[in-house]
Amino acid sequence: MNSLNQQYEEKVRPCIDLIDKLRSLGVEKDLALPAIAVIGDQSSGKSSVLEALSGVALPRGVGIVTRCPLELKMTRKKKGEAWYGKISYRDYNEELKKPSLVEKKIREAQDKLVGNGTGISNDLISLEIASPDVPDLTLIDLPGITRVAVSGQSEDIGEQIKRLIQNNIRKQETISLVVVPCNVDIATTEALRMAQQVDPEGERTLGILTKPDLVDKGTEENVVKIVHNEVIPLKKGYMVVKCRGQKEITEKVSLSEALKNEEAFFEEHAHFQTLFDEGQATVPKLAEKLTLELVHHIQKSLPRLDEQIQKKLKQTRANLDKLSNGPPSDAIERLGFLIDRVSAFTQDAISLTKGEELKCGYKSSIFSLLRGQFAVWREAIETSGTNCKIFGTF
Ligand code: GDP
Ligand code: MG
Repeated sequence: MNSLNQQYEEKVRPCIDLIDKLRSLGVEKDLALPAIAVIGDQSSGKSSVLEALSGVALPRGVGIVTRCPLELKMTRKKKGEAWYGKISYRDYNEELKKPSLVEKKIREAQDKLVGNGTGISNDLISLEIASPDVPDLTLIDLPGITRVAVSGQSEDIGEQIKRLIQNNIRKQETISLVVVPCNVDIATTEALRMAQQVDPEGERTLGILTKPDLVDKGTEENVVKIVHNEVIPLKKGYMVVKCRGQKEITEKVSLSEALKNEEAFFEEHAHFQTLFDEGQATVPKLAEKLTLELVHHIQKSLPRLDEQIQKKLKQTRANLDKLSNGPPSDAIERLGFLIDRVSAFTQDAISLTKGEELKCGYKSSIFSLLRGQFAVWREAIETSGTNCKIFGTF
């Protein structure tokens, strides 16, 4: 079981169940469930973080790997039910037979949408996964921010990517994870600036430091300060995680093994051990923090949901009032009921031909309706009359 799921089961599940129940009662408009989006420079470790959180293998690597926004919609199934996957983009849909196909299919989709070069596209790839091992949650993987176009990319690639990211993190339901590797200067990260633009209060922005194993020797204390929120303060603060490096991927280290390695790494680290003790390190702790955010989000949305329900209730009552009682259960009474209905309808049909008031139906008077219609006809007749005259002079 992946990290996020465990937390999810205990804390978020009851909230989601409540919302599901409300929906099944007919609350039509979906309450937007929260999404988690990752933003950051190219190769900062965005896909790796999502992968560690979700347990779903995503394309990762060097250079521009994520070239379209990828929406990973996860739905939890009951225990024992089979894994289900579906990828869709533009008007293409395909069901996936097994989890190991996910990565390959995403790469294929990107190649089809953008060609197998280095460009990017706004087109969304949507991946639906239903399994007993995932939480009900949407994750969004976005292309990384680049400053310089490489050959084959259009000059304004940087701007294109920024626009795409902004569109995705603007939504109120989205929690942005700003991913920054430990071996770069956090003050210069564009991602942080962008997150602050759409979320100035910092209500839904979380800083994530990655690659602590690659930190420049001698700068460790600086990383500790960042995580302690002393360098660029964020309301929601920072976390540090270690994901699988290229070597571990090549050696096919599994996600669960990687979690064990991560824990050992922090526990033994001369500088980062304090962060581990304080609960600000590792993927499971990040999952815990995100869970709290999600619960918070749902709680905040409940009053809005209540409003929707009240509105719907009022409408339904009004509709019910318009209808009289239904057919009685007794067979003989039912016959009388039917006869009444049929004769009321016939009566209305007769009244209609005489222009009299109607008993059934919603419009009690047709006179005002007819007057309007007559005015339209009159105008039509008069204009066609004039036209005829003009015709006649020829
Ligand atoms: P993205 O472009 O931001 O999505 O970055 P990726 O998740 O694709 O990661 C880029 C590279 O960094 C991959 O080769 C990962 O294996 C590697 N990587 C990610 N996180 C870590 C980490 O914590 N430590 C190390 N050593 N490598 C990492
Ligand atoms: Mg990526």
